[in-house]
Amino acid sequence: MAPVKVRATRVLPGPAWSELGQVEIAPVDEPGPDVQALVVTNEPVDLSRYPSLRLIANYGVGYDRVDVAAASAGGVAVTNTPGVLDAATADLAIALMLAVRRGVVAGDRFVRSGAWATHWAEAPSLGRDVSGATLGIVGLGRIGSAVARRAAAFDMRVLSVRRSDGDLDAMLPECDVVSLHVPLTAQTRGMITRERLALLRDGATIVNTARGEVVDEAALVAELVSGRISAGLDVFAHEPSVPRELLELPNVVLTPHIGSGTVETRAAMTRVVVDNVLAFMRGDVLPTRVNEQRV
Ligand code: NAP
Repeated sequence: MAPVKVRATRVLPGPAWSELGQVEIAPVDEPGPDVQALVVTNEPVDLSRYPSLRLIANYGVGYDRVDVAAASAGGVAVTNTPGVLDAATADLAIALMLAVRRGVVAGDRFVRSGAWATHWAEAPSLGRDVSGATLGIVGLGRIGSAVARRAAAFDMRVLSVRRSDGDLDAMLPECDVVSLHVPLTAQTRGMITRERLALLRDGATIVNTARGEVVDEAALVAELVSGRISAGLDVFAHEPSVPRELLELPNVVLTPHIGSGTVETRAAMTRVVVDNVLAFMRGDVLPTRVNEQRV
């Protein structure tokens, strides 16, 4: 194998990482004139700082901050980590759904505060059913399908839309829960508009483990402050900044972008990144390339 200069913006967890041998750890903005393979976590790459670059290996399935068109034009391959994080991300979507609708986090705060004073649990408010409720999945791809399989075990009625099928405006008024699983693209940015949020039933729950920018965040915050709907949010438009209004609301559960955040899944993602970089070093076909192979 020809020696390849590899840079990463951080050390990735799990045993596969050591297979890469020497990897330079440096910020993405630091010029890397001799870097040929760059491992990022959905950070934008200024290609003018990387004249020798031939591979961007993204740690994550979502690569919306990587300019794939510019990479392709410059002959740079882009890879991601699809599939291995479906279960963990779907699990979190279900966890948020349950936590919000059954008041798990509000109930936990209630118990810890010492306010639970009688044998009859007068919880801050009554929850809403998950079992038997109607779930609308926006983006029935790998993760959306994994959520649908889990929802079936809760006897949920599952509706869905995808790029190639379905009517979002017709689906939204039918749903008790809406779970977002589209990638962030020019077409999906802001697709959950103020008008579409208004189509949700009173008491409906929106779960977002996709990307914050898929939703009109200001409109979502206004709906949540009104108390008309509830939400479980793992992603936000300006991470790590979270709208201040959400911080005190009992009808919202917030997590810090941990959809793939398990020891096992993060190690599996590292395995996919390493497999791509090793294939690149060997001159082999890249296992999970997202842009076209140049001819
Ligand atoms: P995927 O398999 O590519 O599925 C994406 C789905 O979205 C597909 O069903 C696709 O429709 C649909 N879609 C795309 N554009 C659409 C549009 N304009 N309107 C309606 N549907 C549209 O992707 P995935 O692997 O499930 O991942 C989905 C996203 O989850 C990632 O891109 C990432 O942003 C996010 N994610 C977040 C975390 C986290 O930590 N919170 C973890 C993992 C992933 P077709 O089937 O018709 O093509």
